[in-house]
Amino acid sequence: MSDSTELLTSDIDRVADAIRAGDRFLLTTHENPDGDALGSLLGMHRVLEALGKDTVMFLAAKEFPLPVEYRFLPLEEVFHEPPADIADRVVIFLDCGNIDRMPVDFLQNGENTVINVDHHHDNTRFGSINLVDVDASCTAEIVFDLAGLLDVRLTPEMANALYVGLVTDTGKFMYENTDARSHRMAAGLIEAGVDVNEIYRRLYEHAPIEKLRLLAQALDRIELRDDGRLAVTYISMDDYASTGASESLTEGIIDHLRTIDGAAVAAVVRDQIDAGRPARKVSMRSTDGRVDVSAIARASGEGGGHRQAAGFSSELEIPEIVEFLREQYLEARAAARA
Ligand code: 5GP
Ligand code: MN
Repeated sequence: MSDSTELLTSDIDRVADAIRAGDRFLLTTHENPDGDALGSLLGMHRVLEALGKDTVMFLAAKEFPLPVEYRFLPLEEVFHEPPADIADRVVIFLDCGNIDRMPVDFLQNGENTVINVDHHHDNTRFGSINLVDVDASCTAEIVFDLAGLLDVRLTPEMANALYVGLVTDTGKFMYENTDARSHRMAAGLIEAGVDVNEIYRRLYEHAPIEKLRLLAQALDRIELRDDGRLAVTYISMDDYASTGASESLTEGIIDHLRTIDGAAVAAVVRDQIDAGRPARKVSMRSTDGRVDVSAIARASGEGGGHRQAAGFSSELEIPEIVEFLREQYLEARAAARA
């Protein structure tokens, strides 16, 4: 066993011990929650309930309505305000690489014991206990391991929630993070009651027509730079207005850009509708892993993520962002060659 594996073993044991010892918990994730964020949040909530714990989930009101593909998850119990007894709760962050990704005052004041459960390599280890497993394909995989360690028998609802995290973060078992461990987890979840086709249909085949119209706009204006190795498109306020699509319907557009032959990096820049947020958000994917897009996100000063999937927010105008991406891409490519 390598040192890092040993450390991880003790980290997961420490988290399991803290869960056994605690009575009251508050669970949260990152803003703009994706399938892994929501699946691990709900999965962990039900695991704690099965252990007889008092548990609440928290997400800021601005996150609702959730992206349409995740609305079938039973998240009605989510709190939008801190519970009155917040001071007595252990806070568990799931899938959140740094605390600034949950910009909510009561979660940032350092007054609670914080358990940080995540798989991002650039996690800032902001917790009192940090369980950061960078080899896990998704945070749901770590929750799955914790459930096993805590002897919790998975219900179909827990399994469905964790399966959503697994399917979305592995790109339907196709991204580089997919391995035997993620397939073993899938087998365990299916045995626990996941209806594979039903989840697939819910995630990928319940799209409102506005989503396809927005996609059409985005595909229509793809720009290829550097001999097609950088593929970029953007979605503006005008596009939301002309298609009737909400911003959350931008989810998944980037997956089309990464399919272009020869594209090493795909990026989607979108205007953010909510006035409380920076003007624009950038999503990036590295198709073959040679370019570390999380480094580009960090270079922006406002982002991070995985080597293969990262993002940042920005106040720059769209052409300036495209230029920034171009410069950063060239630097990253030079670094990858060095
Ligand atoms: P997406 O492009 O799907 O919004 O995000 C892909 C990944 O990039 C996420 O799983 C997350 O790891 C990371 N990411 C996206 N936006 C941000 C951001 O603003 N800050 C940080 N630290 N990571 C981000
Ligand atoms: Mn994740």
